[in-house]
Amino acid sequence: MANEMKEILEAILTETSGAELADLPLPDSMRGAIVRRDEVGMFDGMASADKDPRKSVHVEEVPIPPLGPNEVRVAVMASSINYNTVWTSMFEPLPTFGFLDRRAKGNPLAARHNLDWQVIGSDASGVVLDVGPGVTKWKTGDRVVVHPIAVDMEDHFGHDDGIMDPSQAAWGFETNFGGLGEIALVKATQLMPKPEHLTWEEAATVSLVSTTAYRMLVSPNGAQMKQGDVVLVWGATGGIGGMAVQYVLNGGGIPVGVVSSPKRVELAKALGCERVIDRSAEGLDFWTEDGTQDQKVWRKLGQLIRELTGGEDPDIVYEHPGRSTFGASVFVAKRGGTVVTCASTTGFAHEFDNRYLWMNLKRIIGSHCANYKEAWEALRLTKLGAIHPIMSKSYPLEEAPDAINAVHHNEHEGKLGVRVLAPVDGLGVMDQALRAQHEDAIDVYRRFA
Ligand code: NAP
Repeated sequence: MANEMKEILEAILTETSGAELADLPLPDSMRGAIVRRDEVGMFDGMASADKDPRKSVHVEEVPIPPLGPNEVRVAVMASSINYNTVWTSMFEPLPTFGFLDRRAKGNPLAARHNLDWQVIGSDASGVVLDVGPGVTKWKTGDRVVVHPIAVDMEDHFGHDDGIMDPSQAAWGFETNFGGLGEIALVKATQLMPKPEHLTWEEAATVSLVSTTAYRMLVSPNGAQMKQGDVVLVWGATGGIGGMAVQYVLNGGGIPVGVVSSPKRVELAKALGCERVIDRSAEGLDFWTEDGTQDQKVWRKLGQLIRELTGGEDPDIVYEHPGRSTFGASVFVAKRGGTVVTCASTTGFAHEFDNRYLWMNLKRIIGSHCANYKEAWEALRLTKLGAIHPIMSKSYPLEEAPDAINAVHHNEHEGKLGVRVLAPVDGLGVMDQALRAQHEDAIDVYRRFA
């Protein structure tokens, strides 16, 4: 670590004032987890499962990001692994350098991101180092978490709902200088105050998954779950699934979780999800070897749900596995129900029987992360102690490639944190009283690590 970075870290750890922090010089370079443009072909011809993020993601020294108008540089104490980083590390479905190329055209600010390396990562907690011209709401020393959506808001489209802005980009995926580097570059409209009852690494695991689940389930832009709604949650203990279960319970709904092992059944129950289906034990393989879907297995899933709900079908299906489950999701949703989807982990080309959709007046809603307002609304619930982090484990930055590999192979529970500048776990808590109130809930996933 550069000497200047050591001084910055020391100042943060000793809670030096923002004014003193502002006087410290910034280093020229920083450590970051990067992918390289000259390696995008390294996995060509390989099956996705064989692509190894430990080969494509490197932790090395790179120049710190340049600061521009309405931007903020953040000293990153911690980050987390999201599934988009798995996609980046495999260069699937396309190398993320394509995003950097496209965004650079005609936009000098975006062109600064278009380099031969990309610092990845779409979550961060940390401390504001400096702010660019035009930033008035944030100052050096502010303790923050980062909302992963960067928008310019120059277009009229975004002014109802920021995520509709055509310039919208997933930070650290469609931009450079993401959370897995010691100094991150964000737009001022990505910052939110850190929940102070959480450690740095816990706080860094909340934003992306929580805000995604909030928009999908709670927001008027999503499924608008009501009290008593039955919600089928695929991957109920995973990153966005573990958050969905909490939002359903917090809103008075009835989650039915699907997971793939007895350990995860127990974890889902510890999270408060009483109704759980083990898809492995039940043999819920919807696709046959000849490449068609077996409707008998769709019916079996529907039957299992009814057994757990006293005969009710899901008002909402929370979809993200994609091709492997989407046909079943459309089938099991209640008459008039909603399938809300934000992803296609197992394949983008979904197949479903449209008769079950139109004849039963079901709806499909596409959802993508969230706008800044939704992100604040979601984070407020964490600050109130209603929605908790789901971190099972954290890794030092050097081991970020191992953490990405674990998520790639579905070997993790919930979220994996990454300590970027934070030297050890457990630092950064300022509100011990609120933490003591929620300690058990915050620790659920650690008990299953
Ligand atoms: P994650 O932590 O890996 O969790 C995904 C869960 O999906 C796993 O826990 C697994 O649970 C389940 N799963 C995996 N394969 C499955 C299959 N074939 N059938 C049924 N369930 C399966 O990942 P995540 O962070 O929750 O993200 C999930 C997806 O959402 C990713 O594709 C990610 O890119 C996407 N995402 C999109 C947005 C957005 O804004 N559009 C935001 C966040 C995430 P079990 O094995 O226990 O069933």
